[in-house]
Amino acid sequence: MKKVSVAIDGPAAAGKSTIAKKVAEIKGYTYIDTGAMYRAYTWHCVNKGLDCTDEAACVAEIPNVNIELLPGGKVLCNGNDITREIRMPIINKNVTPVCQMKPVRLFLVDQQRKMAEKSSVIMDGRDIGTYVLPNAEVKIFQVASPECRAMRRYKENQEKGIPGTYEEILEDVNRRDKADSERAFAPLKPAEDSILLDTSDMNIEQVVNRVIEIIDSKVKE
Ligand code: C5P
Repeated sequence: MKKVSVAIDGPAAAGKSTIAKKVAEIKGYTYIDTGAMYRAYTWHCVNKGLDCTDEAACVAEIPNVNIELLPGGKVLCNGNDITREIRMPIINKNVTPVCQMKPVRLFLVDQQRKMAEKSSVIMDGRDIGTYVLPNAEVKIFQVASPECRAMRRYKENQEKGIPGTYEEILEDVNRRDKADSERAFAPLKPAEDSILLDTSDMNIEQVVNRVIEIIDSKVKE
């Protein structure tokens, strides 16, 4: 079977990972959550007590950070299971300056590209179609209104016991989108050859089916 790369980019809490996980299962691809990698790097800096706006201090940690994404969705940093911790508000806040640090991005992008060389992947993030995998066979830019995204994330967090009101989540989502879109290096933007998918009025099953349709139409085995 031909090796395939699928890039799913879009703003915060657009449901990219939910969809990517399900599509990966159905198609037998490896799912790579690049947001979890930026979160894990940030967790390491926070855990060390670093000021996450101090670029020199955060970048100096590159040799000390080993991130693993396990098949079941677990995220490890230097062997610590931080799957739940990386979803906490303190990481949402601190990931923004950390992911703007070019050496940190280059360090993580290098790992993302190596993963995509090994097997068929569905990778979600902000810069996958534009920067990480510019030759991906399939590029999707998944969007939904900020209110819709914040409500979905609020419900998801409630189920997982992650704190935060709807208003706080809406504010966080808008803040992260603005910063991600405005950063100088590898900002959030649709690749020219991406397909725009607005999921505001779609349920999970509909989005999964649509993504599979798109993949099948682009990838002729
Ligand atoms: O996707 P998720 O919301 O978990 O990502 C966390 C943060 O990591 C985002 O707010 C964004 O700033 C950053 N990120 C990024 N590039 C990616 C994936 C995530 O800058 N490819």
